[in-house]
Amino acid sequence: MTTDTLLEARGLSKTYPLPGGGSHTAADAVTFTVPRGGALGIVGESGSGKTTVARMLVGLVRPDTGTVTVAGRPREARTPRGKQARLARAREIQMVFQDPYISLDPRLTARDCVRTALRLHGRDETPAEALLDQVGLGTREAGARPRELSGGQRQRLAIARSLAVDPRILVLDEAVAALDVSIQAQILKLLDEIRGDTGVALVFVSHDLAVVRHVTDEVLVMRRGRVVEQGPTDAVLSAPEDPYTKLLLASVPGEGWDPADAVRARASL
Ligand code: ADP
Ligand code: MG
Repeated sequence: MTTDTLLEARGLSKTYPLPGGGSHTAADAVTFTVPRGGALGIVGESGSGKTTVARMLVGLVRPDTGTVTVAGRPREARTPRGKQARLARAREIQMVFQDPYISLDPRLTARDCVRTALRLHGRDETPAEALLDQVGLGTREAGARPRELSGGQRQRLAIARSLAVDPRILVLDEAVAALDVSIQAQILKLLDEIRGDTGVALVFVSHDLAVVRHVTDEVLVMRRGRVVEQGPTDAVLSAPEDPYTKLLLASVPGEGWDPADAVRARASL
């Protein structure tokens, strides 16, 4: 761990019992670091353990073994007692989910949603409008409730609410997966800008390699709970070494794409 390391995950493992007996290892000794203001992508197919790792980072899933360290301080495995300690923990890492609808209060306008987050963290409510503006939500949207917003606008609101907490790290789990590609592009650009402006570090979980290529510096490829390859995003996605990474890349449609290549790559794994 260098002095520049902000987030360190070391040996994170999680095994779930199977209904019929036995167990399934969702994450197996996952280790990585993210520097201050860095952006790490976690990629892999559905079921590879990405969400389990994301949830262990924020503390929604308790790892069987392993530690999460932020700025050199280990995060407690349990949610700390006391409001101040809980808020301090929330300021370290915020998470944005694929479907923010369930985590947004249907009764609150976008403005009140962000104000509530600011107030909860003992901050002045004045920056609410500026935060909404930062994610591209104007006056009309500020006065709208979640059901009156589009999917992309709700996702922006969820990001604005996370930023209201002034987190050091933002974990996004398939946060743009359900959005139209043009909206995806807007949100990816937004995340890049926010990272430049605020220095927040991103952990960007996605099954979509094209999306990860745009927003991350480093990438970690997961298969069946294990990290099979990690390194600079450009290098890993342009010259993958692991056969599984090659398969993922061969599965992305593009110029000269032949689905048969992907089928062959899978057969050879
Ligand atoms: P991904 O996000 O890459 O799709 P997940 O982390 O959601 O993968 O899941 C990894 C594996 O762990 C899957 O096989 C999934 O069924 C299993 N799993 C995830 N959460 C639970 C849980 N709460 N109970 C039992 N099994 C789970
Ligand atoms: Mg997932």
